[in-house]
Amino acid sequence: MELKLYHFMPDKLNLYGDIGNVIALKKRCEWRGINLKIENITSTDGVKLSNCDMFFIGGGSDREQCIATEQFSKIKNEFKSAIEAGVPALTICGGYQFLGEYYKTVDGVKLPGLNILNFYTESKKDAPRLIGNILVESEMFGNIVGFENHGGRTYHNYNTLGNVIVGFGNNDYNKKEGLLYNNLIGTYLHGPILPKNPNVADYLIKAALDNKYGDYEWKPLENNIEFIANNHMVELLKKNIK
Ligand code: GLN
Repeated sequence: MELKLYHFMPDKLNLYGDIGNVIALKKRCEWRGINLKIENITSTDGVKLSNCDMFFIGGGSDREQCIATEQFSKIKNEFKSAIEAGVPALTICGGYQFLGEYYKTVDGVKLPGLNILNFYTESKKDAPRLIGNILVESEMFGNIVGFENHGGRTYHNYNTLGNVIVGFGNNDYNKKEGLLYNNLIGTYLHGPILPKNPNVADYLIKAALDNKYGDYEWKPLENNIEFIANNHMVELLKKNIK
């Protein structure tokens, strides 16, 4: 079996190990005998998503987001159709913020989002950045661990990945993290998220295979090492809860 992953703006949007997500997807596919082909998209001119089985957008500084905004706006409709059609996608932090109506930077610049989903993100000038390790309890994925560092606060009413036990997540107010819409995952978790949260990685791979092949044999993997890393962080973070 073969899948194609589009990695958008790898040269600009890649913070705190985000590229590790692509490596994790590649490896977990390889271990199952699936060839994951990676297209690095640095310019969106003429890009069509019809061959894309999965896509990934990492995080970026406000400066890099300003540069990437124009590129993304060119294929706004393509993105929307892909997401509505259930193409699985992982979008991290700045990449996640792009899916909404706008992201207001700490300098007050309003970067238009792709307006695919109905939400917005704002940085606050006199408020601290939301930085640190994060633990999320997710009904769907179990304990999710990662690292966050963002000024933007995101507000929405969509399904989330779960409840924040340690850290901030979407904002500094409702203790919810991320967004789940069709097979699109938006999250503030860097670290990168997928290597130590294999359930999230497999969700994306499985959704891509379901879309493309429908009938196939799903091969579970042994996740001992991944869950040792995950549990270690869960225990460490829970110790700090008073
Ligand atoms: N620049 C955005 C913010 O500060 C996104 C940061 C990131 O991708 N880590 O909110």
